Amino acid sequence: MKIDVSALPKGGMADVSVSGNLAAPTGYFLLNSSVPVRFEGEITREGGVYTLAGKLRADTVSLQCDRCLKPLTLSLGANVREKFSRDTFSGYDDEDVWPFAGGEIDLSDALAVSFLQALPRKVLCREDCKGLCPVCGNDLNLRACGCDRTQADPRLAELTAFFSENKEV
Ligand SMILES: [Zn+2]
Ligand SMILES: [Zn+2]
Repeated sequence: MKIDVSALPKGGMADVSVSGNLAAPTGYFLLNSSVPVRFEGEITREGGVYTLAGKLRADTVSLQCDRCLKPLTLSLGANVREKFSRDTFSGYDDEDVWPFAGGEIDLSDALAVSFLQALPRKVLCREDCKGLCPVCGNDLNLRACGCDRTQADPRLAELTAFFSENKEV
């Protein structure tokens, strides 16, 4: 997702409309290796600093429910405000400025950061999802399996037995 800023004069502004695919962040719960996104906004130039501002949209983000692992598709939006400069050593150290070279800015990394921040921390297929049975793996939304889930941890079961035995003494 590159934009050409070679013709943008100092103090100038240009509309930006790009779409493309972001590589899915690793270690996350996304189901696809890339996410189609689009960005609409503008870029302004003040001296050597280019500021990108606008909205990022990702309408088909494939995720899994945290509880029952059912695949689901989310639509996400994020506000974007990122700065770019060819020269990142000239006193912008109080801000994060993305470096670039030449006449084009590649927006992919900056947009990937905004996308990551827009991802929800918890994903549920529905608010009251019952999840999977920890004993047999059955989807508890579909049917009850009748497993005794209070004894799911054998260490806990031993401890319970120990205390009930000693109570008799
Ligand atoms: Zn679920
Ligand atoms: Zn079960």
